Amino acid sequence: MSGQRTLIRNIGLLLSGKLEQPILDADTVLSVDGKITQIGKAADIDESGVDTIIDANGVTLAPGLIDSHVHPVIGDYTPRQQQLHWIDSTLNGGVTTMISAGEVHLPGRPKDIIGLKALAIASQRWYENFRPSGVKVHAGAPVIEHEMVEEDFKELANAGVKLLGEVGLGGVKDGPTARKMVEWARKYGIQSTIHTGGPSIPGSGLIDKDVVLEAGTDVVGHINGGHSALPDEQITCICESCRAGLEIVHNGNERAALLTLRTSKELGCLERVILGTDGPAGSGVQPLGILRMVAMLSSLGDLPAEQAICLGTGNTARVRDLDCGIIEVGRSADFVLMDQAQHAPGATILESIQLGNLPGVGMTVIDGVIRTQRSRNTPPATRLPLIVSRPSNA
Ligand SMILES: [Zn+2]
Repeated sequence: MSGQRTLIRNIGLLLSGKLEQPILDADTVLSVDGKITQIGKAADIDESGVDTIIDANGVTLAPGLIDSHVHPVIGDYTPRQQQLHWIDSTLNGGVTTMISAGEVHLPGRPKDIIGLKALAIASQRWYENFRPSGVKVHAGAPVIEHEMVEEDFKELANAGVKLLGEVGLGGVKDGPTARKMVEWARKYGIQSTIHTGGPSIPGSGLIDKDVVLEAGTDVVGHINGGHSALPDEQITCICESCRAGLEIVHNGNERAALLTLRTSKELGCLERVILGTDGPAGSGVQPLGILRMVAMLSSLGDLPAEQAICLGTGNTARVRDLDCGIIEVGRSADFVLMDQAQHAPGATILESIQLGNLPGVGMTVIDGVIRTQRSRNTPPATRLPLIVSRPSNA
């Protein structure tokens, strides 16, 4: 792909993913070779040599949604619920990037050190080499065990591993050991998260606020539990006592999610709140999970919809250090185009979301390439983007 130019014009509402300025005054976005190069009014954009032209037909363009918490295993198959094409299904829910919190659903997952390192490296590779339906899956997230030494983290980092799986899903469930290993991981550029709350399935354990705070991971994984949340006072204490990302998941306690949202608003740190599904999990695959979290937090949490979308895009990109998630020159041309769902109440798409309704996804674009058109999973969008032209080989 060299010099591939993709133009999206006639955008009715442009959502940036940036909490400090969620709505942009522009109607056209140009990308070249998968990166955004121009954002503005149609008249100001250089349309020469464009390969793909999309007429947004007045719909809303937002950054592709990011799921901060998934448990992929291999390709587009999950052994957890014996489902095929769950990632493709989630792309139909507007998600273009996923972050693994550990490939823990692999039957017979190795827990010896050489085995868990091999699994992490292999998982990182097979999702780097194969993107299901184009979705960017950042995987290869080892679950720490007691026998690990600093050299293991150095070796993992050198091999391309950039994430730790949820601390607490393995043998390490105590604060001091977790802290030591999280610091080793950080030293070598590996980001960390932790399983917050009660056990998720038989075999996992409780991680309470003391362990979360002592471990000091970069992200407080499912602060609203997955499924069982910590008591309210422990959740507010975590929000107040650290600077880590506060991850809310679909597969958690909704009341605790709203408590986290309210607390972060009161503390003035909404930029720390990020969204995930925790799928596939005991409650299944959640193809619309991020959109459902956006609608739930916006409606019940009294958060303007354009800000709620930032929690699942720009906030996650910043906390996770990703080059997508924000409509900004230089970033990945990963987009979701959506419109108010047919017959959903509300004067605008934003009002409709704030009334608790899901928008209808009309198209997804990853690296400037059209990946899906009308979603097979969301309620149907009122208006759909139109493809004016696209390369004959696409
Ligand atoms: Zn978990």
